Amino acid sequence: MNIVVCAKAVPSSTEVKMDPQTNTIVRDGRAAVVNPFDATALELALRIKKMRAQKGDPTTVTVLSMGIPATQDLLRDCIARGADGALLLSDRAFAGADTLATTHALFCGLRKIGDVGLVLCGKMAVDGDTAQIGPELAGALDVPCVADVGELVRVDEERIAAWHATDEGRELVEVGLPAVLTISKDAASLRMPSIEGVLHAEQAHIAVMTAADAGVDVSRIGLAGSPTQVVRSFVPERAVEACEISGTVGEQATRVAALIEEAMR
Ligand code: FAD
Repeated sequence: MNIVVCAKAVPSSTEVKMDPQTNTIVRDGRAAVVNPFDATALELALRIKKMRAQKGDPTTVTVLSMGIPATQDLLRDCIARGADGALLLSDRAFAGADTLATTHALFCGLRKIGDVGLVLCGKMAVDGDTAQIGPELAGALDVPCVADVGELVRVDEERIAAWHATDEGRELVEVGLPAVLTISKDAASLRMPSIEGVLHAEQAHIAVMTAADAGVDVSRIGLAGSPTQVVRSFVPERAVEACEISGTVGEQATRVAALIEEAMR
């Protein structure tokens, strides 16, 4: 079985810099990490691989990313931790992509990897935060999607069963493969790399594909292929005023009501 883990490079700090001219996120790759949700997805993929190996079933785990060339370092680290290979989609033509354009690029990357039984995405990226890519990829592949998976129960050649979060609590679902699962951050912690893994990763080949190599439809990638338009992005101003309200419960309630009325005027 081929398992693909979609991993996005995200800023390691919560301070995301925006380009005021283009309204896009500035990505210089200097302090990037693998999105924490994707790190968990990788750990689950490695556990599935081990479980299947015990039964004599071979599994390949490939990490797929769309990002700047520096993302190769993060993919190498994924290999050090146990992934078998990595594919980086990197081309200026991908820049400015919204989620639909990102999905098209990743979809083409998946086609290049070929014969994928299971795609694991993070539930969301900590910078973009839309949680759209996983379900969109499932739509593009026309396969089932289970979102916000917290625990895997069973995986065989044809089906996967997992607990996932719902508005009401959690639910056990079973779907046929191929499928896309989006993984909750708390589902597992990514293992540390072994010394052997680090040495192996140093020599490992990271496949890097341009838009042309990946065979994308150029009208569906990058800024041009993005139907979403960011009109303006800004850090919201926060003017916080605090006042103490004392008195009886009735007096406090009257004062709160007056303050709310005042604020709504
Ligand atoms: P989510 O949907 O929250 O991510 C869910 C999961 O999908 C992740 O956990 C991961 O498994 C997978 N995933 C998401 N992105 C990737 C990826 N790149 N590679 C591999 N797996 C992935 N971003 C830029 O970097 N540069 C830009 O110039 C830029 N311009 C934008 C312009 C517009 C108009 C818009 C709307 C967005 C732009 N973005 C840009 C943001 C970019 O679209 C999103 O970061 C991207 O589509 C993924 O969405 P998300 O971060 O919300 O991921």
